[in-house]
Order: sequence, then structure tokens, then C-alpha cells
Amino acid sequence: MATKPDAGGSRRGVTITPGAPDVLTIRQLGKTYANGVRALDDVSLDIPRGMFGLLGPNGAGKSSLMRTLATLQEADTGSATLVLEDGSSIDVLRDKDAVRRRLGYLPQDFGVYPKVSAEDLLEHFAVLKGLTERKSRREMVEGLLQQVNLWDARKRKLGTFSGGMRQRFGIAQALLGDPRLVIVDEPTAGLDPEERNRFLNLLAAIGENVAVLLSTHIVADVTDLCPTMAIMNKGKVLLTGKPADAIAALSQQVWRKQVSKAALPDYEARHTVLSTRLVGGNPVIHVFGAQQPEEGFVQVEPDLEDVYFQRLRAQARAA
Ligand code: ADP
Repeated sequence: MATKPDAGGSRRGVTITPGAPDVLTIRQLGKTYANGVRALDDVSLDIPRGMFGLLGPNGAGKSSLMRTLATLQEADTGSATLVLEDGSSIDVLRDKDAVRRRLGYLPQDFGVYPKVSAEDLLEHFAVLKGLTERKSRREMVEGLLQQVNLWDARKRKLGTFSGGMRQRFGIAQALLGDPRLVIVDEPTAGLDPEERNRFLNLLAAIGENVAVLLSTHIVADVTDLCPTMAIMNKGKVLLTGKPADAIAALSQQVWRKQVSKAALPDYEARHTVLSTRLVGGNPVIHVFGAQQPEEGFVQVEPDLEDVYFQRLRAQARAA
């Protein structure tokens, strides 16, 4: 057993068993919408137990992938296989009922009935999930409300919940039954820093037992808590693996310089500028290159944001 060091300060480390079989295997998934947009272009991923970060800008194809895995839309080509605890497997694209029994899904646009209490709605979802035995259903609903820290608010109408509380409720409904795979689509968008942190801690704890596929366009969401990840754009997987390995691969190739606003377009024309941050009103740029780009640049330790933008730039150049 190898333990990942606690990456997020207060967040718990995730224990990973080397050689453990992947929970979800995706092979050459393809999807072109009727309007001609190729949302999934030969997507292959191996998703182990724990948190898996799917990082990409808006329009990358993340939701298309997640909706396909959640059996809400069809792929044109490829396969996806969910491997259960006993080693048996489910064909995700064909055996939809079986997948739905073992899948938890928090969609991007998770709507709730504002006039219903958290407890009543979770109970209702539990019935829909097929939890017919009353006593065990009650126990599960109560246990989940406690797990997501909504026990004290369980009688409150969902319309009175904050964004963070609604997302935690969304996680509770995704955990109903006994999911092997939990899919959460852009869950931290719109949360304030404290709610976001609380929510991510909750996800990290869940990831100790199941595979959690988290889509986000926020690099820090992945840096903080995902032992494995993929970067996606324009329907393609640009990179997959451990964040630390991807960062190490960029070592000694990222350079920093503070420049004037007026000079920024020139630098962008001459170099592969990965990122621009304003410090004291002037842009500090990160540039990718094997050698010092020019006078005044200092080498910096790369981070996941550099990895992310380097991949996006490389894809844009190749196109
Ligand atoms: P992401 O979740 O990464 O933002 P999406 O999967 O939502 O990306 O979208 C991928 C691409 O597919 C985008 O160009 C988007 O406009 C397009 N798209 C998404 N859903 C549909 C649809 N139902 N019909 C046509 N195009 C779609």
C-alpha cells in the first residue's frame, strides 16, 4: 500500500493499492453531434479507485463523456467497461440498467425541488433508485445526510439552501445505493472558497472507496486532490496519468518574467506564453522552452497549470 501525502493541507491522503484493477476502462469512444461537432474523438482512459480529475476548458467534451458514461446519451463508437468488486464487469454502453444501479451522477445542472425538504427529496430519490426496503432505505438516507453534513438542515426546504449545501445534497443523492463509480460534472463552479474546500474534502473522503470522476476547468481542483487525471480539449485526451509525473516532465522548461502590458503582445507573438498573471498591475508571464527565452527570464518550478496550458498550446499549434 502506498499513501499519497496529504496534498491539500486539511485534506485526507488517499490510499491507493498498486496494481489494483481499474474500475472503469474507456476505449476509443467517439461521438459526433448532428451539427457536426466531434465532442469525443477517440477517447481512451483507465480510471482507478479514488479521485480522477478530468480537466479541460469549456467545450472540451467533458460533459459529453460524462453523460455517455451515465447512460444518458449514446456514443457512436468505442466501449466502456465498469469492473465490479468481484471482478465481473458491466458493458456501460449496452447494459444500461446494470450501470445505473452502480452509478452515482451529479450533473452540471442539478436542479432540486425548492419547496421540498432535503430529507423528503433524498427519500424520494432513494425510492427511484430502487431501494424498496423501508428500514434500510431510512438508514441510508439518514447516514448520507450525516455524511454530507446536512443532518441539521434536513427539514429545511431545498430552496433555502446555499450553493454549497445544494451541491452536498447532490452528492448525497449520487451516493444512494452502493455506487462503484461516482461522476460529478463541474461541481465547484460557483462555490465560494470555503464551500468549495468543504465540498472537495467530502469528495476526497468518498474517493477512498469508489472511483470518483470529477470534471472541472479549475486546475486547482485537480492539483489539490486527484492522484490521477486527464487533460481533454476539442474531444481529445491530451494527457493522462499522475499530475506529479506530468509536472516533472516539464521540469527546467518553464520561465518567468514580469513584462509591461504594452510589451505583452510581442512576447505572445515570439514565445509560447503559458499563463499571464497580474502582479502589482503588470503581467507576469510563464513561457515554455528548452532554453532561456531571452534576457531577464528566470527558470521556475512548473505546476499543473503550466502543464495544462502547455498541452493546450501544443494542440493549438499542431492544428
Ligand atoms: P464541456 O463539458 O467540456 O464544456 P461539452 O461536452 O458540453 O463540453 O461540449 C463539447 C462540444 O460539443 C462543444 O462544442 C459543445 O458545443 C458541443 N455540444 C454539446 N452538446 C451538444 C449537443 N447536444 N448538440 C450539439 N453539440 C453539442
